[in-house]
Amino acid sequence: MFEKVLIANRGEIALRIHRACREMGIKTVAVHSTADANAMHVRLADEAVCIGPAPAKDSYLNKAAIISAAMITGADAIHPGYGFLSENADFAEMVELHGMTFIGPKPEMIRLMGDKVTAKRAAIESGLPVVPGSDGDVKTVDEALMWGEKIGYPVIVKAAAGGGGKGMKVAHNASEMADAFTLAKNEARSSFASDVVYIEKYLQKPRHIEIQIIADNYGNVVYLGERDCSLQRNHQKVLEECPSPALNPEQRRKIGEIASKAMAHIGYTNVGTIEFLYEDGQFYFLEMNTRVQVEHPITEMVTGVDIVRDQIRVSSGGLLGYKQEDIRMNGYAIECRINAEDPRTFIPCPGQIGAWHVPGGLDVRVDSGMYAGYKVPPNYDSMVAKLIVHGRTRNGVLMRLRRALEEFVIEGIKTTIPLHQKIITDPEFIDGQYNIHWLENFIEQHKDEIVEE
Ligand code: ADP
Repeated sequence: MFEKVLIANRGEIALRIHRACREMGIKTVAVHSTADANAMHVRLADEAVCIGPAPAKDSYLNKAAIISAAMITGADAIHPGYGFLSENADFAEMVELHGMTFIGPKPEMIRLMGDKVTAKRAAIESGLPVVPGSDGDVKTVDEALMWGEKIGYPVIVKAAAGGGGKGMKVAHNASEMADAFTLAKNEARSSFASDVVYIEKYLQKPRHIEIQIIADNYGNVVYLGERDCSLQRNHQKVLEECPSPALNPEQRRKIGEIASKAMAHIGYTNVGTIEFLYEDGQFYFLEMNTRVQVEHPITEMVTGVDIVRDQIRVSSGGLLGYKQEDIRMNGYAIECRINAEDPRTFIPCPGQIGAWHVPGGLDVRVDSGMYAGYKVPPNYDSMVAKLIVHGRTRNGVLMRLRRALEEFVIEGIKTTIPLHQKIITDPEFIDGQYNIHWLENFIEQHKDEIVEE
């Protein structure tokens, strides 16, 4: 087992990793930018190293500074968290070249899955159902038009290197294709330094359902059920639940087994999430995330598996220690992502937190790096807390969530708590009747009713 792990991240996920390490008797090294000198992950870690100025490209994305910090402090592994360098195969390789362990899958897996075109090909070869689309990258408008005719409109042009919902444009008919193609290509070039795009059928009312996978280095692959992440704004997840209200146990078992088999086929190790769109009873592979995800706690609450701890264990060469038949889905869990944003306009509201009081009680978990008096810097993601609530029934979870959101006090900055309060009392949401477009329509219709108390 590792003796010391460097956590190459910030915020709640840095804390989450620190907590797992602490419980495993592993020492932690925090890294931070100058803007984060007072952050909670820095305060809690055994050691902390400043790796650069506020902009992420000079600090949390600064590979050389992070490797140096790990060497100086004698860390034997680096945990990248999510975002930043977590899906950077070159970084994973650098870590290994310097004699340390990258806590994640092998660099070649990150590379394979990081390019959505090669990922889709690997998905097809390993038996995963995919969205019909171009076989590979699409180079010209004429080629794009050809695919549009072949697949049938509407279609979506997507960046092969895409992430965070960027580089995606829908063409509803041939006349929109030239614009969609050019816009997606330009956005891809400026966001990902690669303008490779591909085309697939645009599904009109799918749900986003993803399967959590964990695998050790000895061929043991287990799926930990699914998460329904259909509630999105600008292709970004807002609220997630486990299990999905749309699946029954038989459907869950089927897709879980298909996903596990596919991972065994490609030789995937470590944690990973296979994202699918789900429409009319059919699953379609979307992409794979080769890292721990923001919404992993809902799976932990339902299965009782400590995903981060087990990730660290399998990374150090340990056995998974359980089999598929040992995994039980126990009740329901919902996560609300609470962002420092205006709940109506979604304009980020960084600034100093005044009062800070988190809800508690049975089955209530808050993952956050915030505290009273902390100044939320404007340089990073606006998420300030994840509220995760578990219960025996979905209705029970909704009641508990309502109570927990009421208890949550964050003063000094605006947050999206009022949005979550509005969502969870909506009859359609309560019925579980939603798809990936539901939330944006809901916000449009109920904007004026989203009020701060
Ligand atoms: P990213 O890596 O940027 O998150 P994804 O490929 O995971 O991109 O897609 C993000 C979201 O975009 C999906 O959850 C879904 O809402 C929407 N989306 C992507 N592809 C399609 C598609 N073929 N049809 C309909 N919606 C799509």
